Amino acid sequence: MRRTITAVLTLALLAGAAVGGVLAYRAYESAPPVVRWVDPPKAIGRKAQLKLQVEDPGSGVAKVTVVIEQTTPAAISKTVLDETAVAGPDGKPPRTYEKIVEFDPRELSIRDGAAKLTVTTSDHSRRNGGQGNTATQPLDIEVRLRPPMVELLSEQHNIEFGGSMMVTYRVGASAVEDGVRVGDRHFPGYPSPADTGVRICLFALSFREPDNVIPVVYARDEIGNEQAVSFNYKIMPRTYPDVPIALKPEWIAAIRDRFALPPSLDDVAAFLDVNSKLRVENHETLAKVLETTEPQALWSGAFGRMNGKPVSRFAETRHYSWQGKEIDQQVHLGVDIAALMNFPVPSSGAGVVIHASDLGIYGNCVVIDHGMGLSTLYGHLSSMAVAEGDKVAQHQVIGHTGMTGLAFGDHLHFGMYVHGIAVDPKDWWDPLFIQKRIEPKLATWRSGGANVAAQSAAAAISSAPDATASGAAEPRATAPKTAKAKSGGGKHGKRGR
Ligand SMILES: [Zn+2]
Repeated sequence: MRRTITAVLTLALLAGAAVGGVLAYRAYESAPPVVRWVDPPKAIGRKAQLKLQVEDPGSGVAKVTVVIEQTTPAAISKTVLDETAVAGPDGKPPRTYEKIVEFDPRELSIRDGAAKLTVTTSDHSRRNGGQGNTATQPLDIEVRLRPPMVELLSEQHNIEFGGSMMVTYRVGASAVEDGVRVGDRHFPGYPSPADTGVRICLFALSFREPDNVIPVVYARDEIGNEQAVSFNYKIMPRTYPDVPIALKPEWIAAIRDRFALPPSLDDVAAFLDVNSKLRVENHETLAKVLETTEPQALWSGAFGRMNGKPVSRFAETRHYSWQGKEIDQQVHLGVDIAALMNFPVPSSGAGVVIHASDLGIYGNCVVIDHGMGLSTLYGHLSSMAVAEGDKVAQHQVIGHTGMTGLAFGDHLHFGMYVHGIAVDPKDWWDPLFIQKRIEPKLATWRSGGANVAAQSAAAAISSAPDATASGAAEPRATAPKTAKAKSGGGKHGKRGR
């Protein structure tokens, strides 16, 4: 027994000595931190972002500083990062320290050209008079602060909520991404076949967009420098109707039957299962379908509208009630047109079929891509005469009206989308809209901007958005003209958000 205790004590002492030894060794360890820039870019722009990693398995990272230096055009040295008491998530010195170093070189008076970033770091070792082991790691880097040029070529961009618009512009060679930004939505620009620097962008203003939204044309280079310019536009006020719909028992019975709902769901739950839950799923599927688009306009002229009576408007809010109580609200993302039963449905414009099968609430549903992000949807069809991948001509019969999906009378649900955003088809049915707002821009784009110089009025670049102008006058009359198109939109346009 005694022998056992002695053995245990001896072991404990030995272990204690070992731990003490390790601690002493650690306290005076001589390995400096290992510093690494993770996948450093060859150049930095207005939003410099570099990933830094420091490892010190011995005593942990204590201090990290990063300094940027430039010798030309002027000798300058600025601190970008200064962490004097590095702590990990547990409050202790971390063995591995990672940081995304972010800064705007302009704020540090750094200019275009060569620069050097130097990391200096130390650990918690008691060596070097308590200063720890130190390590430095320089990184030579190019600074490029000039964003790509953006020059507007088109005018006349008045738009309504739920409306569509096109803009043509020229971008500088350094642009790798460009288009129109509306709020946090991006609409891509397409390069002209005659001059790849000339771009066209079809964009939409969602009916859900806030009143103060400002659309901008932007171009970004590979290191994230962005030029954004506003353009002549005016947003018209919106008025969308509210429509009460009192649900009928026979509709609920039809929904149960068509969508094979379990009898355990009560009437309200059965309706919501389709009108709310299935609708969300169908819109997710549709969003993926609508990503397929040709980078050119497959249509020409105004779009066609099936003959028939309009029975429901775009973006109306439907208030569904059951037994006198409102149980759901949904916005109608298209227009409904009723004609005769099984009426032939013509393709609204030329294009390629990108969907032709059941789509839940839309029943038998055909979706046609018309290029440049523009597409049309035909829902509730009794029969479909086309298949996915088919090329269709304008007015070609693509199916027949019906009441498949969530429909309680024979009609066509006609939807129109710009890069997945539901828009009011009325613009596209209007020959004047096509003639004034679409075709001149397509002509500019097709010619690579060659016709712009010949136009009597060069593209106007507004110094301020024209959203506050009253009345429905053309931008020609309401917006200030501050520059000819060749002067460059970037210099004169207001910077976007
Ligand atoms: Zn509809």
